[in-house]
Formats: sequence, C-alpha cells, structure tokens
Amino acid sequence: MDVRTENRPTGMETHRKRILTGDRPTGRLHVGHYVGSLRSRVALQDKYDSFIEIADIQALTTDFEQPEVVAENVHQVCLDYLAVGLDPEKVTIFVQSAVPEIAELTVFYSLITSVNSLRHNPTIKTEAAERGYTSLSYGFLGYPVSQAADITSVGAHLVPVGDDQLPHIELTRDIVRRFNALYGPVLVEPQALVGECPRLVGLDGGGKMSKSKGNGISLSDAPELVRAKVKSAVTDPQRLHAHDPGHPEVCVVHTYHRYLGEGARGSEALADFERSCRAGAIGCAACKENLTRSLNTLLAPARERRRYYEERPGFVKEVLAAGITRVRGEAALTVSRVKSALRLVQF
Ligand code: ATP
Ligand code: MG
Repeated sequence: MDVRTENRPTGMETHRKRILTGDRPTGRLHVGHYVGSLRSRVALQDKYDSFIEIADIQALTTDFEQPEVVAENVHQVCLDYLAVGLDPEKVTIFVQSAVPEIAELTVFYSLITSVNSLRHNPTIKTEAAERGYTSLSYGFLGYPVSQAADITSVGAHLVPVGDDQLPHIELTRDIVRRFNALYGPVLVEPQALVGECPRLVGLDGGGKMSKSKGNGISLSDAPELVRAKVKSAVTDPQRLHAHDPGHPEVCVVHTYHRYLGEGARGSEALADFERSCRAGAIGCAACKENLTRSLNTLLAPARERRRYYEERPGFVKEVLAAGITRVRGEAALTVSRVKSALRLVQF
C-alpha cells in the first residue's frame, strides 16, 4: 500500500470539500469514539478530503505532567484509526506538534481573540470544573484558539463534532470572520457537522465515556476484558433481583445495546430485550452476556486489522510522515497568506 501523497489521484484534494477531525492522544480510543465519531469518519472518507489530527499539544494542556503517556498514545491512536478502517490512501493523518505552522497561526489568532470569550466558553468551564482546576493555564484556556489554527491551517470546510465542541467551532468562525473583515478574505469559514448520536455514557453511568476517566471499553480491549468490563457496568439500581421489573432508560447496558449491539444492527431484538427487561423476564447477567457477544463481534475486525498494523510499526510511521508532509505544505501556504495580510515582512 502506498501512502505517499504524490500518488493520490490527481485533483482529489482540490475538488472535494475538506473535513478536519481529531483526537487527543491521552489514551486508546474507546467505543464512545466509535459511535460518536470514528464510524462517521470511515463513512465520510470516500466523499470528502479528510484530515485527521492527533492533537498531542492539546493533550498536553491537561496532561503536561505525563508527557510519556501522550507520546505513547500518538502511535496507539494512529493504530486505532487504521483498525477501524480509516484508509491512509484516502485520509490524511497527522500529528499536531509536527506542524509548527499551527503554532504560528495560534499566535496570530490570539491577537484578535478576547480573553473573556475564552473565560465564558461553556465547554472550557465544564472541563475545568470536572478536572478541579482552580486556576487555568494560558495553554488550557487558549486551546480553542489552537483548534481554530488546526481547522483553518488546511482550510477545512466542515468539522464533524459532538455538541460539546460547538462553542469552539463558533469561536473559530468568529476568528475567521474577524480576520477576513480586518485584513481581507484569507481564511475559510468552517461549519460544524453535529452527529446525531449523543455522548455515549461511561461504564460507571457517571458521565460520558472518556479516555482519561478510565470508564470506557477500548477498541483494542481483548474479548475477556470486554466481558469483565461489561460485567462491571452499572445497570438499573432499583433492580435488585433478576425478576424485578427493569427500567432500560436508566441502564448503561441498554444504552450500549442501542448504539453498539442489537439496536445498531437495526434488529428487532432490541425491542424484545426492552420488553423482557420491563417484565422482569430477563436478568441483567443474561443481558450483559448478550451485549458482550455483540461487542466482541463488532470489535473482531478492528482487532484483526490492529494486529496487522502492530506488526508493521514502520508503515504506521510512514502514514504519519506522509500526512505531516501534506499538512505542512497546506499550512505553510495559509501562514504565508496570513502573514501577507498582517503586513508582516517575509524573508
Ligand atoms: P479525554 O478524556 O482525554 O478528553 P475523550 O475520551 O473525551 O478524551 P477526546 O479526544 O477529547 O476524547 O474526543 C475526541 C472526539 O471523540 C471528539 O470529537 C469527541 O466529541 C468524541 N467523543 C469523546 N467521547 C465521546 C463519547 N463518550 N461519546 C461520543 N463521542 C465522544
Ligand atoms: Mg475530551
């Protein structure tokens, strides 16, 4: 498989709309990422020119005390991408820190971004509260500005996101409009593409599934680990005995059945489970066993692809190197246009 950009079909990049998405390499990707974003990225890779960023600097805005975790997970997240079926001949996968032009753009955009707009950003506020931050670092407060740089560096038209990311995309749009109004039409104004799937809840039922909370099922978990994790999942707390009537709407396992198991296959079996649960005719253990089987069936092809690429670390590096080369080329053009617009002397 040749991943070099020069071997892409000619015209592919210029004629198709561009998409940018990404993940923080704070851990391996989980089934929440799969339903919330990876599945649609795979579906979109034929239609759009897709850029996928492994946002290692953004990961360090929260994980600066453990850079080794971030470093290790750059490779792991790339393996996760390849495992779910993202095809490096169709998508451009790159690493944020390897594109210094993004850092340059971040500085330029910071000139026209008010500190208050960042302080009042609802997602920043929620994330800061969840992490117990009493004072925010400059980098953490400003990560939405660096996201604006990520998106505009390659002139992305669309940014598929969860609803928590909407304030950030709004900020990017504000920056673009402001910049273009002040200095001329240089930057592409992106639009958010919000997925229809809600945030997938974590195994503990205490909030969204999240890499850094350790409440998820990773795409690379072995079948037995999946079984053990499903066993530990929180179900209807009012259901003490197998024959008590259950409440699927509050049950984590039922949510997973809906988005990853029977429901995702569009099968009638989901409604059957729901009826049986409400009637107290099926116990949680049987329900969990069924989910385990569904999940392991879903994850089997990804595990196999992952194994293939794990044995070829050189290929994975090559995928990233090719992606970085392409993005640096695009981002250098953007920086040059931005600097001209700002009347900065280019030597
Ligand atoms: P961290 O805990 O380090 O913030 P995370 O699990 O929240 O990690 P991110 O890298 O922050 O993952 O998010 C990457 C992408 O995955 C984003 O587009 C986000 O909207 C989506 N995503 C993250 N968690 C979920 C979830 N539980 N359900 C659906 N989509 C999710
Ligand atoms: Mg997150």
